[in-house]
Amino acid sequence: MQEYPGTTGLIFNEPLLWEKGQKGRQGFSVPRRDVESSELATEFVGDGPDFPDLGELDVIRHYTRLSQWNFAVDLGMYPLGSCTMKYNPKTNERQAASPGFAAAHPMLPPNLSQGILNLMYDLERYLVEITGMDAASLQPAAGAHGELAGMLLFHAYHQSQGAPRSKIIVPDTAHGTNPASAALCGYKPVAISSNADGILASEDVAALMDEETSGIMVTNPNTLGLFEENIKQIADIVHAKGGLVYGDGANMNAIMGIADMGEIGIDVLHLNLHKTFSSPHGGGGPGSGPVCVLKHLEPFLPVPRVIKQNGQYLLKEDFPDTIGRLHGFNGNVGVLIRAYAYIMSLGAENLKKASQLAVLNANYIKEQLKDTFHLAYDRPCMHECVFSDERQQAHKVTTLDMVKRLMDYGFHPPTIYFPLVVPGAIMIEPTETESKTDIDLLVNAFKAIAKEAEEKPDLLQDAPRYSRRRRLDETTAARKPCLTG
Ligand SMILES: *Cc1c(COP(=O)(O)O)cnc(C)c1O
Repeated sequence: MQEYPGTTGLIFNEPLLWEKGQKGRQGFSVPRRDVESSELATEFVGDGPDFPDLGELDVIRHYTRLSQWNFAVDLGMYPLGSCTMKYNPKTNERQAASPGFAAAHPMLPPNLSQGILNLMYDLERYLVEITGMDAASLQPAAGAHGELAGMLLFHAYHQSQGAPRSKIIVPDTAHGTNPASAALCGYKPVAISSNADGILASEDVAALMDEETSGIMVTNPNTLGLFEENIKQIADIVHAKGGLVYGDGANMNAIMGIADMGEIGIDVLHLNLHKTFSSPHGGGGPGSGPVCVLKHLEPFLPVPRVIKQNGQYLLKEDFPDTIGRLHGFNGNVGVLIRAYAYIMSLGAENLKKASQLAVLNANYIKEQLKDTFHLAYDRPCMHECVFSDERQQAHKVTTLDMVKRLMDYGFHPPTIYFPLVVPGAIMIEPTETESKTDIDLLVNAFKAIAKEAEEKPDLLQDAPRYSRRRRLDETTAARKPCLTG
């Protein structure tokens, strides 16, 4: 195997602190006591908690070693499709950690939080400008939460028209959160298949859309990395029947400031600030999933809303048609600050450029690997491309085997077995922040693995070999999780 920078060898084993501690070890030495000992202390304190005795270096090594068991964008490429694991510039962290923001209590009154309210007010306007929508709320705490907000907005809108509806159309390529959010809101999701080109056909939407259907949820670009080219006609069909169009904007990284979502017929759009607008988000949070709407849905937005009155920023709750409050306080404010810093540091032109580079990088990978792996849809892609294990199955090698092997080459595996419409899917999203040099390393690693699949399939079925843990029994781990260590 070719040596790759980063992960081969030097795997640190580390026991629990309790196993490591030895009676009498100390973090630091205090001067010898020169007064009589007193019973008083033990009387009040008792024996104290059962902490192990450890030296400073024991503790430092323990936590540093544990930190090295993690993989992160700061360590290597993390091409996890649909998750937009781009490098998050450190200046964003610095701004979020500014004491004026980080030390502010969420219950401070607006007259003492003008800075953060100003930032939230401006951020809403930037997001509206970048997406081509009319108004926004920063309340939802994640993408799925934004979807729920969107479904509540749909419901409030139809209610205001005097006719609540019961169903919603969701494509088979959608992220699982889409039907789940719709169902949580009481809608029955109706699945629609994508066509031979991997996108929605307007005739298929027309066949399903009726006056019982609240609207459609569309991810654009979709999770195959393809732009929904018929979106305008689809939106017209849905609107003609009184329905609304929801845009899952988690894939906005392909089209920041380029596609005008309002113009193409989207009524409500959520964004994943933690993906597109650069907050670290491995391991599940914290996130932020603002919803952007067109004018006719603005009255229903969640409260409180940040408003500007006589040069002062205020939080206003009094909107009679609002769907209400979705979150305690103001959402995950740290993510909002990072997104604001990201937008300000790039500026309008460079945001567009970031999207163009993300698309270029994905298309480069698609072209480099399409002779090696079966390409599910051979057409220009947006920010990600989807391959499958169709060719390698002849050697009894699966997608899972190949991506486990990729770990031995020093890369985080891509997203696999999603979207469901591509059996054995391998979904690669390089993002704009990877250089050609690093992308070529990934491409070469995949080519080497495909060769191994032909010549030494055992090697892959047994992968990973160089990670701390070998192949895990993921089914048992999911079915019978052991959460106590
Ligand atoms: C990530 C993602 C979501 C869900 O976002 P969360 O912040 O994880 O809740 C929804 N749709 C798509 C297309 C996504 O990629």
